[in-house]
Amino acid sequence: MNAEYVVVGAGSAGCVVAMRLAEAGKHVVLLEAGPKDIHPWIHIPAGILKLLYHPKLNWNYHSEGEKGTAGREIHWPRGKTLGGSSSINGMLYIRGHQADYDSWAQSGCRGWSYDDVLPYFRRSESYVSGTGETRGADGPLQVEDYRTILPLTHQFVEAAQQAGHPFAEDLNGYERVGVGYSQMSRIGRRRGSTAQTYLSKVKNKENIQIITNALATKLLFEGKKCIGVAFSQGDKSNEVRANAEVILAGGSVNSPHLLQISGVGSAEHLKTIGVEPVHDLPGVGQNLSDHYIARVSHRAKDAVSINQLSRGLRLMREGIRFFVEGRGALTFGVSSAQVFTHSREGLASPDIQLLFSPASYDPQKFGALEKEPGMTIACSIARPESRGTIMAQSSNPREYPIIRPNYMSAENDVRVVVEGVRQARKIFSQPAFQPYSVGETLPGREIQSDDEIAEFARQTGNTIYHPVGVCKMGPEDDKMAVVDPQLKVRGIQGLRVIDASVMPAVTTANTNSTAIMIGEKGSDMLLADAAN
Ligand SMILES: Cc1cc2nc3c(=O)[nH]c(=O)nc-3n(C[C@H](O)[C@H](O)[C@H](O)COP(=O)(O)OP(=O)(O)OC[C@H]3O[C@@H](n4cnc5c(N)ncnc54)[C@H](O)[C@@H]3O)c2cc1C
Repeated sequence: MNAEYVVVGAGSAGCVVAMRLAEAGKHVVLLEAGPKDIHPWIHIPAGILKLLYHPKLNWNYHSEGEKGTAGREIHWPRGKTLGGSSSINGMLYIRGHQADYDSWAQSGCRGWSYDDVLPYFRRSESYVSGTGETRGADGPLQVEDYRTILPLTHQFVEAAQQAGHPFAEDLNGYERVGVGYSQMSRIGRRRGSTAQTYLSKVKNKENIQIITNALATKLLFEGKKCIGVAFSQGDKSNEVRANAEVILAGGSVNSPHLLQISGVGSAEHLKTIGVEPVHDLPGVGQNLSDHYIARVSHRAKDAVSINQLSRGLRLMREGIRFFVEGRGALTFGVSSAQVFTHSREGLASPDIQLLFSPASYDPQKFGALEKEPGMTIACSIARPESRGTIMAQSSNPREYPIIRPNYMSAENDVRVVVEGVRQARKIFSQPAFQPYSVGETLPGREIQSDDEIAEFARQTGNTIYHPVGVCKMGPEDDKMAVVDPQLKVRGIQGLRVIDASVMPAVTTANTNSTAIMIGEKGSDMLLADAAN
């Protein structure tokens, strides 16, 4: 097989790249390890709770047990279908803080400051509630406000203001500190994955071939030039050659993994897994940065929470509302309102994100709803300093890599999560919540000191699924950079990584919109080079 461009991975970024290339008339082959996105739970927003552990639409990775998680392995879902993680995620549409992108530029990633990337955020989206200087009006990705807002969410927004957080009209606007309602990547009642919003626009064109259930097993090289990709479909093996470029968009676990098993990584590590080095690139799989949370939950009274709406007759009623009115609990994502705030005075940008959900969850199984009504604030270490690794453990493409996130290994992250829990407690203690709370169920009143709260976070905390940094972008003098600011893999020709893994550090907020922005900017780079 031959193409101009071969894109590995039809995820948040991969679908954007494939669509923009195909739209420009380029001949594209898009390889996706998972199946087509036809499963109904993908398209019903609340279906995320069914997708978190889905055996076929999810890679279901896990991290190693570590000190920062009290020896627990943490489940790491990643989407494995058209749309990738945008087909199984919580659908929150939230951009990083201006300072995130400015710090990338400051570290030497020329062209990635906030002012540089804003046009790509705008180009990607259609925000249905208005435009303004920061918002897009006619991009493929539809962004909507919540259609149905449970009263507990309004109480959270009021309580947060009573606790001193200013109200922010649009958390994706210029003002990114304070409390605001969440926005979602949704098309009406349905999930707006990049498969449904971007890829659907070109899928019937003759110049794009989308191959599903196709696992890329190796990048093919001639010397230091990437010339194509080997892949397997069931027990059949095949190869596709790229006349222009190969684009790796496998996401933060698979992109470094495929590079390593193909011979691009630390030569020392490659030797231990029996892979002949093509190029010694020590940063591949290093610098892993992710968001870790601890939860504060209350038992709710005299108000409806998702817990009650998700069973029996009420669930049936919500099902009917969904199909007839396009509203109700089945249109919900993971968090209906949020606070961005600081863990201490003097910080230039927020380092805590508090995500409110009118629901409470089983402390032992993340994402499983409790029977009794409840409400939760997830306290995220929004600018973590801890760094981890993702390393192949053999040359076998089907053997999962070892994930060591090192959560809470940096002292400052422990301080931030403790402060996040204290700030969440302060919000729950405000008058707006008094009529609706029976009392705190997590961490529980007996947990008060900094050490007790930190230990609670180690014992019960979780990822919120935003790993990045393992193929980080950086300037020439950064020996740990995997790609340059044009997203080209250092020392290799004909190969770029265009996905969330290139972020030098995780953004202050959830990562999907930024992965899509990277896809938009990366495709402009590909097309500009093709024109020269
Ligand atoms: C459960 C969950 C909830 C989340 N919630 C939110 C949220 O509410 N808001 C938000 O902003 N972010 C959220 N995120 C994060 C966000 O979805 C990701 O940051 C983003 O999707 C990453 O995009 P990507 O293109 O880097 O990778 P992905 O979207 O993961 O795409 C990678 C694709 O490559 C394919 N692939 C991988 N390896 C191969 C191979 N060898 N051969 C062929 N194909 C391959 C995969 O199957 C996948 O389709 C969530 C993530 C998860 C998992």
